[in-house]
Amino acid sequence: MAEAIAEARKAEALGEVPIGAVIVRNGEIIGRGYNLRETTMDSTAHAEMVAIREASAAMNSWRLLECTLYVTLEPCPMCAGAIVQSRVPLTVYGTPDPKAGCAGTLMNLLEEPRFNHQTEVISGIMQAECAGLLTSFFRRLRQERLQKKVREE
Ligand SMILES: [Zn+2]
Repeated sequence: MAEAIAEARKAEALGEVPIGAVIVRNGEIIGRGYNLRETTMDSTAHAEMVAIREASAAMNSWRLLECTLYVTLEPCPMCAGAIVQSRVPLTVYGTPDPKAGCAGTLMNLLEEPRFNHQTEVISGIMQAECAGLLTSFFRRLRQERLQKKVREE
């Protein structure tokens, strides 16, 4: 998870919402990703999607068997779908997302028994650090907007 947090910091450095992910297989990181939605102007450029693409390329397969995905924020419906599609057996996330979380908060697409594949979920790992990245990012953003508004007035 510390490596996923390091990825999130790369997003933050670009002014992106700080979310990071890594995919580990046999103790080795085979995929890394951080949120690049603004930079790439691509709504699908979430940390998990980027990491899944990289891991699939590394494994030369769309099946990410024996892999663990670590992500700082609970996956959204798109990423949860991609995780199920890639057959990742275990997903570990840092902090829940009350607005989009689909790994147990709003719903649980990862452990949905009606799908043909389920992904085990572990949550709350390094939660304070993962959540802190987001709250300080949004606090800074609000401050910057407020200062800009005050200057203009
Ligand atoms: Zn997502």
